[in-house]
Amino acid sequence: MEIITTVERLQDVAVRERAAGKTIGMVPTMGALHEGHLSLIRRAHEENDIVFCSIFVNPVQFNNAEDLQKYPRTLEADVQLIGDLADYVFAPSVEEVFPVAPSEVYDFGSVANVMEGAARPGHFNGVGVIVRRLLEWVRPHKSYFGEKDYQQIAVVKEMCRQCRILSEIVPCPIVREPNGLAMSSRNRRLSVHEFEVAANIHRILEASKACATLQEIKQFVESEIDKIPEFQLDYFELADAATLQTADTLDNPHGVMGFITVYVGPVRLIDNVRY
Ligand code: AMP
Repeated sequence: MEIITTVERLQDVAVRERAAGKTIGMVPTMGALHEGHLSLIRRAHEENDIVFCSIFVNPVQFNNAEDLQKYPRTLEADVQLIGDLADYVFAPSVEEVFPVAPSEVYDFGSVANVMEGAARPGHFNGVGVIVRRLLEWVRPHKSYFGEKDYQQIAVVKEMCRQCRILSEIVPCPIVREPNGLAMSSRNRRLSVHEFEVAANIHRILEASKACATLQEIKQFVESEIDKIPEFQLDYFELADAATLQTADTLDNPHGVMGFITVYVGPVRLIDNVRY
């Protein structure tokens, strides 16, 4: 594995691998890697000749300065974890990626305006800014994204459609801790107690599958979350799995999903469930 820090070298090796007829898989990350990230990298390794993994804490997708400042940065350990699963790890500085502050303003439409888009103004624009650059620099045949950030996948697909980026976007299932909590780099900021309490998010979502109507589900989830003093609900939305707009019936042809965001102390955790 080679660690690359410049865009020039990144493009150079990517062009050479492509010219040699290799298929390329790409896994964009912000580092502080865990089994969730590794599942994406492993899948990319299985499905492609060459794997690029990027590790870059993208400042333009943070709408909260403290979240950006506290975001864990563990490059050395990340590189150890990746081992031979990736051929190239792209770990640039902010100045390398953004020699000038990016000024693009995208309109990703209705998939980007709800839930995380509404709760975190500018977040998806920042995601579009970085993912577009990475995919244009590397030109991977396939790019891997986790369903923990389900809405992000819809936004990335829309960005690719608008910008004519031909990489296939491959959604990958959520990897969980043994207690059910969705793995996240932000889990490192939880105390032992908070980590155990946070497992209730997944437990409540799973239990809500027994409800018969959308109204019952919403009521059940909101009241169960409210019972846990460590939790502060940001939102719980029931949405069409394809359009991400509010669902009005459980037998929606695309399927219905529940999307939740909960604060555990200052740490913001997201999860989702398919009904
Ligand atoms: P991040 O480093 O948080 O930007 O995540 C990089 C990629 O890993 C994104 O596509 C995430 O959706 C994915 N990812 C993060 N956590 C998980 C998880 N628990 N299971 C599956 N994929 C994940």
